[in-house]
Amino acid sequence: MADYDPDNIFAKILRGEIPNKTVYENEHVLAFEDINPQAPVHILVIPRGPYTDMGDFSKRASEEEQIAFSRSIGDIVKILELEKMGFRAIANTGINGLQEVPHYHLHLLGGQPLGRMINVL
Ligand code: 5GP
Repeated sequence: MADYDPDNIFAKILRGEIPNKTVYENEHVLAFEDINPQAPVHILVIPRGPYTDMGDFSKRASEEEQIAFSRSIGDIVKILELEKMGFRAIANTGINGLQEVPHYHLHLLGGQPLGRMINVL
C-alpha cells in the first residue's frame, strides 16, 4: 500500500485550504457534499486522520476513531433523512475499485433509486 500523501485533495480540505460544503463534523470525522454528485444526495464521509483507504483505516485507526466513524454514519443518515427510503455506502479502494483520492472516504448516495450495484465499464 502506498504511503499517505499529505497533499491529496481531502487532506487540503481538512486543513481548510480548499472549501467544502460540510454536512457533519466532529473530532474525528468530516462529511461534505461531493463536488460531482452522482445522485440527489452524495456525501463523502472521511476520517480526520491520515488513512489511505478502508483497509488502512481498519488496520491502523484507533478504536475511538473507528467507533466515531461508524457512529457518524448513523448521525448523517438521520440528518439527511435517509432512513426511510435508504441509501448506498461505497468505499472505492485501489486500482480495481477506481479510487481517485488516496484518503479514505465513504460515499453515501441516496435521494432516488440507485439501480444495480455494479456497472462494469
Ligand atoms: P473516489 O473515486 O476516490 O472514490 O471518489 C473521489 C470523489 O471525490 C469523487 O466522487 C469526486 O467527485 C470527489 N471530489 C474530488 N475532488 C473534490 C473536491 O475538491 N471537493 C469535493 N467536495 N469533492 C471532490
